[in-house]
Amino acid sequence: MKILCEVQVLNRTTQANRTPRPVKSTLAIGYKQSARDSNGNSKKELEMVLFTPQAKAGTRYKVLDNIHCVHTKFVLDGKATIGFKQPAENLLIKCDPIQLKGFLQTLKLGMEGKDAINLRLNIANTTAIPQKSQPQLRMTINKRSEYPIKGFPRTLKSLTIKNIQLVKLSFEICTLRNLTTLDISGNKLTQIPKEFGRLSLTTLHLSNNALGELNDWCWLRGSNLRASLCELDLSDNGLKYFPPDLVKLDRLVTLNLNHNNLNYLPFAIRRLQKLRSLHVSSNKLESLPASIEDLHIELLDVWGNCFKGFNMEAARKQAKRSTDRYTPAPLWLQAARTVASQKLPYSESTLPAILIELISEAPTCLCGKLCYAMEARDLLKRVMQPKFTNIKNLTYSREHQIYADVIICGSNCAAYQQLKSLFTLLIP
Ligand SMILES: [Zn+2]
Repeated sequence: MKILCEVQVLNRTTQANRTPRPVKSTLAIGYKQSARDSNGNSKKELEMVLFTPQAKAGTRYKVLDNIHCVHTKFVLDGKATIGFKQPAENLLIKCDPIQLKGFLQTLKLGMEGKDAINLRLNIANTTAIPQKSQPQLRMTINKRSEYPIKGFPRTLKSLTIKNIQLVKLSFEICTLRNLTTLDISGNKLTQIPKEFGRLSLTTLHLSNNALGELNDWCWLRGSNLRASLCELDLSDNGLKYFPPDLVKLDRLVTLNLNHNNLNYLPFAIRRLQKLRSLHVSSNKLESLPASIEDLHIELLDVWGNCFKGFNMEAARKQAKRSTDRYTPAPLWLQAARTVASQKLPYSESTLPAILIELISEAPTCLCGKLCYAMEARDLLKRVMQPKFTNIKNLTYSREHQIYADVIICGSNCAAYQQLKSLFTLLIP
């Protein structure tokens, strides 16, 4: 069996890298027929050969009784290490995970002395797999006729499928592990498959589709996507509400929600601590949550919305929507409040997920206290011409005022009393 991979060779004795960085290589495994001995029996000897651009003839390693270690913990990420006793070298291998798994299984069978189809390779005169000229990294499809019938190259890093009336996203795209940039704008998608969350995309453009129709956001919960996505464009999708899972995109820097039908942004938006540019122009926003101020936004575009004075009913609904999601027991709330007020460090390994959500997403009073559920003493206020002093570039239609919704932990709150003297409060 032969695989095309990247290998870095490390000498364990000298700790020196024989190859300073991973190089494109061919790794082969198979039996070598040795010369007949005096009894006329020939022995089969298992051997591994590494072909690199520096060693075109190949470096040969004996396998039986010569394996020092095999590390397979990261085989699903396409990484493994095979160490030999003689010479004392470790091969750090990077490869397509499926191929790598197959190769390691073949090695195991060989070591157990089994005869496998994959081992029927004449290792004595095998050669390196010819390197393809250049792996294809980008692909752009602007017409239906350009859609690849045989499937997408596995090497793609960037894929654009624009304006071709696509109604369904093929599952195959979810398996393109190298993909970092995907633009599928101007199609007719109503749903994104759940498996999509496995991709480690940094940029995703979905503008001008119809995702507001089914409102299925399961794919946003995928851990790879959550940890990688920096730029998301969901403009012009007929969204009626802000997808709650969006606030869990820990790396998000740019979010475009222009040309939708949003009438509120959730208080939980404060979880998007990396967000720098937020586009919500041409929506139906009546106000902004005061938690926008907790972010580090450099550009906020709210042009073309319908900011309104206090509408008790709408405000209550929004507050309820923002706080309904958290239903921990009072003791949990006490714990969460302590973590939040003392600014204690926390992570998914130290706190239950529900508490992390509460601490990072629940509305906070101006005094910083978490208001987890709409209690009678939590008062919702709308402030005219809010502070929003942290925002460097604010775009809005000047004939309108911007209103900010704030949640107050109680009318005795000192921060609230202070605010009262500074701003015009619209009290129901
Ligand atoms: Zn307060």
